[in-house]
Formats: sequence, C-alpha cells, structure tokens
Amino acid sequence: MSSDNQHFFTQCVHACELVDEQFQGAISPLFMSSSYAYENVEVKRYPRYFNTPNQVALAKKLATLEQKEAAMLFGSGMGAVANALLSFLKPGDHVVFQKQLYGGTYHFAEVTLSKMGIFFDYVAGEEAAAFEQAVKPNTKVIYIETPSNPKMELIDIKMIAQVAKKHQLISMIDNTFASPVNQNPHEFGINLVIHSATKYLGGHSDILAGVVMGSQEHIDHMFHTGINLGANLSDYTVWLLERSVKTLGLRVREQNKNALNLAVFLADHHLIAKVNYPGLASHPQHALALKQMKGFGGMMSFELADNVDTAIFLKQLNLIKPSMSLAGVESTILSPTKTSHSLLSAEERKVQGISDKLLRFSVGIEDFEDLKNDILQALQKAKL
Ligand SMILES: *Cc1c(COP(=O)(O)O)cnc(C)c1O
Repeated sequence: MSSDNQHFFTQCVHACELVDEQFQGAISPLFMSSSYAYENVEVKRYPRYFNTPNQVALAKKLATLEQKEAAMLFGSGMGAVANALLSFLKPGDHVVFQKQLYGGTYHFAEVTLSKMGIFFDYVAGEEAAAFEQAVKPNTKVIYIETPSNPKMELIDIKMIAQVAKKHQLISMIDNTFASPVNQNPHEFGINLVIHSATKYLGGHSDILAGVVMGSQEHIDHMFHTGINLGANLSDYTVWLLERSVKTLGLRVREQNKNALNLAVFLADHHLIAKVNYPGLASHPQHALALKQMKGFGGMMSFELADNVDTAIFLKQLNLIKPSMSLAGVESTILSPTKTSHSLLSAEERKVQGISDKLLRFSVGIEDFEDLKNDILQALQKAKL
C-alpha cells in the first residue's frame, strides 16, 4: 500500500519503513556500514552522501509527513538551517528574515552569513507589505518561523509564499514549534520546510537531529552543498528517530490537549498576568491560527503577576522541570531572559516584549491535573 493513501497516524508508524528480508522482523533493520560495495551497484553508498539505507528511508518518511517529495537529514536543527541557507545563497545575495528568530539562527546570520558577505534584513510584525518592502533586487531567500519563540506570534504562511513566488525567491520556514502534526506549510506554497528534529520529531529529549523537506529538485540542489559540509545524521540516530516518529501523532495530540487546557486555566488565574497561546480566543491572531494550524501545539508562554517571585516559582515546581530545550514528553519550563534571549540587550528585550516575568512552557504528556496542581502549589509558595 502506498503511504500516499494512508492517514497521518498510520504514516507515522509505517510510511517508508525498511523491510527485514532476512528475518522478517516487524521493524526497520538498522544498517550501520560506513563502507559499501562500489562495483555493480546502482548507488555508491557512504553515510556523508546522505544515501545509506536508513537515511534514505527516514528522509522519505519525514518528507511524506510534510507532504513534500524529498528530504535531507542532518546532525542537528542548526545543521539543517545552515545547509538550507548556504545551499541557496552566495556572497552578495540578500535574505529577508522575520524579526523573532530562534537564537541559533539569528546568531548564524549575524556571525556566519555576514562574514561571507551575505546581506540580510529582519522584518518585525506580520504585515505582507513590510515583508515585500524588504525585498531587494539581490534577495534570494525569505525565511520565517511561526509560531515564534517565545511570544507565540504568528505569520501568515500563505502570504509569505505569495510574496516569495511573485519575486522568485526561495521560501523557507522553521516549522519546529508546530510540528508536522499541527501545520503543513507545503499546503500554502512554502518551498522548504525545516525542523529541529531534536524537538517534537525526536520528542524524548535524548537525540539531536535536523531535517529539511522540499521538492526533489531543491533537495538534489542541497545535496551538493551538504556532502561538503559533512553534517549528516549518524545511522544509529536515524534509527532512533524513526522509532520516535512512530508516536509523533499520539504525543503531539496529547500535548495539544494538555496545552490548551493549561492555557485556559492559566489565563483565568489571578496570579498570572498574561498567557500567549494561539489556541486561546484572546490571542490577537487566533483567527490566523484557525486558518493555518490543525492544532495549536504544546508550546506557550506566560507572565507571572507582579506579586509573584519568578525565581521562587521555578524553584518550587516539583513535576515541571526548569530546563533548556523543548518538546519532550516531559513538561519543561524556562526563563528566556536567562537562557535563549540572554544575549539580547535589556533594551532589545523590552522592544520584543520579553520581560523577566515571562516564562516559556513546553507542555508534556503527563496528566493535566498533575501539571495544574504543580503550578498551583508553586504559585502559592511564590506569592509575595
Ligand atoms: C532548537 C531549535 C533549533 C535548533 O535545533 P538544534 O537541534 O538545537 O540544532 C532551530 N529552530 C528552532 C525553532 C528550535 O527550537
């Protein structure tokens, strides 16, 4: 049965799995060879060429989940971001980025792209006109991230794809926060979809990986840069990631449910000043969320009220772990001013609305009641 006819949860489990011809085992066998025959073979295989059996199979599976033709797997999310950008840019070219970018991507632009003589501008807000005005004769790529970190602001994906098409730019989206369960940018005409597979695709806070999905033509083009940069994913991690993806649909469905319930609960609590979650009717872009998202995701951020001590609140949490990274089955929380956004000046953080009271919350698959009770008891202890 072709995986094209299957539904999403079935594709997560079965799409493009390898067949164990030798023993008829139920799961994809793992081929760890870094040395393959070169005589009388169709493909000369080598791990750094992205063409070992496990890499090829998982790349096809992930492409299927984002409704794309092809994909390339990388050793990290930043490996995917860097390869996507470097494959389509040369000195003198220009990129239009959205303003609120993942810290690593921002740093890559500031340090690496500028050193290579590649120009870029950041566009704040979500107006189509602002993005279009930033396009120059040498612009080659338009790059967005929605929902954004940590304020959960949205950008109209279809509008960006249209601007890109009109000006013959390659459109790229970092779809990590939404996951392929909740948002498929291909449906709106985006060329390349990028994920830090360290997050929802991996989902257990134990592997680092990245992926870029696109047309066969775009991925073939990326191959030429990719083999030189040498950032492929090891076959063992490929195999672990395939195992993780089997439960992607289930995990994210529960994370969506928990996050929506918690967002409603927090928005109603007198010790919480503000909740940023696209699934809330109070989110300024809730209508856009309904248009382009199938679920609202497991990520949110919220601000504690003035009479709650942030440091004490974090310390008093028993179940929810204050830790870096996100999207695992366990709930984690962090202070962006102390972690992801610590390199921004206090003034810049103020412009972006990132206060010391703001916390980014990655909701896991624990029981809602337990997460709610953990927050309630920590709030009581942190009340001034
Ligand atoms: C984590 C993350 C990345 C980078 O991924 P790594 O696997 O850490 O290299 C890129 N984009 C977003 C939105 C992320 O959350």
